[in-house]
Amino acid sequence: MKYDYDLFVIGGGSGGVRASRMAALAGARVALAEEWRMGGTCVIRGCIPKKLLVYASQFSENVLDAAGYGWDFGQARFDWPTLIANKDKEIARLEGLYTTNVQKAGVTIYQDRAVFEDPHTLLLLNSGKRVTTEKILIATGNRPTREMGTSHVIPGGDLCITSDEAFHLKELPKRILIAGGGYIALEFAHIFHGLGSHVSLVYRGDKPLRGFDDGMRDALCESMKQRGLEVLLGCEFTKVEKRGSCLRAETNKGAVIECDQIMLAIGRMPNTMALHVEKAGVELGKRGEVKVDGYSATSAPHIYAVGDVTDRVQLTPVAIHEAMCFVETVFKNNPTKPDHIHVPSAVFTTPELGAVGLTEAKALAQGHAIDVYQSTFKPLLHTLGGRPVRTLMKLIVDAKTDKVLGCHIFGDHAAEIIQIVAVCLKMGATKKDFDGTMALHPTAAEELVTMRSKSYSRNP
Ligand code: NDP
Repeated sequence: MKYDYDLFVIGGGSGGVRASRMAALAGARVALAEEWRMGGTCVIRGCIPKKLLVYASQFSENVLDAAGYGWDFGQARFDWPTLIANKDKEIARLEGLYTTNVQKAGVTIYQDRAVFEDPHTLLLLNSGKRVTTEKILIATGNRPTREMGTSHVIPGGDLCITSDEAFHLKELPKRILIAGGGYIALEFAHIFHGLGSHVSLVYRGDKPLRGFDDGMRDALCESMKQRGLEVLLGCEFTKVEKRGSCLRAETNKGAVIECDQIMLAIGRMPNTMALHVEKAGVELGKRGEVKVDGYSATSAPHIYAVGDVTDRVQLTPVAIHEAMCFVETVFKNNPTKPDHIHVPSAVFTTPELGAVGLTEAKALAQGHAIDVYQSTFKPLLHTLGGRPVRTLMKLIVDAKTDKVLGCHIFGDHAAEIIQIVAVCLKMGATKKDFDGTMALHPTAAEELVTMRSKSYSRNP
């Protein structure tokens, strides 16, 4: 046979693992190189450990709510090292499962860093071994950036941590400053706040979560202030320095903030550095992302790329979906384009923010005249719990066709609800379909099928 393998996958994260397994099960001779730990960002330093920390952070509020229901747990105490040790144990278990499943499918795993030597040859840097392969899948993911942009290289930036280090801190910081206004900044702000840290969020824009529905962003800002998180908007660091055991950050607003840790959550960069893709004729975009067509094919016809390294939609289920489409296209003779429409997503703040479909702004920009149905209410749990928590739900409906274009929820269990609403939107549900669905009482989700009166209409 001409090549050592039919397919060589670079990267053992969500996309790489799924593609390698499915291609091997389809009969291909497959190998995969992962330089660190199998599971990638999602399993090792992203979605899964993050969600475990989110659960941990919510017990403090659950205890507050319990008082209204007659419970008294005495003096609550939280131990960070216990949480981190238990989290690490679970992550190691998952990593083992990932490895076993890939091996069971017949994939050869190289614990090594693979770089391109020529279009069909990869060099494994640790072992010095060269492998040849007919097809290659780049699934190397991305990593947190520490660069605030060329005009904003901050002195002392190396004193800051990113989400990678946040999962392994020796102790819980008493005061933490978090820079950014995206998913990671908001999630970690709520995690640290719930665990007892004083949190200051520094964001350069006018309100966090750019791209999400404005109403939800306002509700989130309000909720953060009410919970005691400090939110500094229109604000950026200009300098960070260490003074004794504490860090000092100077901002463009002239403020000096003292804290124990500073976390940068200002976006992620594709992992293509030193991969030498140019030796295989693979083109990169401006941010270093691998440029792909609708079938995830790169500019080199036998090389494909999926997941965060392509900088399309940076979400685990999307990487997995792209991997499945790649296998269908390349190994099952069934050309399949990944579907990037109706991708539900959630920001795991407390409470959560879940969304699927268009925001008001995007619906108007696409030329839809819209009817908006929204409801804000105090969830039943909090009637006895006593805290001033509110849920906001919104349906955006095309005024002409009655089709539901978007659903947005800021409230408890938003992520769980939105997952199912995504099915409805994918099926093309209309507002009439929502109205004709029996409510399930008493739930928060029943609001979505009982919003009879239009809140307002808008024209493009
Ligand atoms: P995001 O792209 O979500 O947010 C980056 C944030 O950093 C934005 O608020 C951006 O501001 C700000 N920023 C960018 N550059 C600078 C700069 N030079 N100075 C100051 N601020 C800056 O990135 P994240 O790192 O939070 O997350 C990466 C991706 O990972 C997300 O896009 C998401 O898809 C995925 N993810 C998903 C999660 C989930 O599903 N729950 C959880 C975590 C991550 P501005 O808005 O002004 O551009």
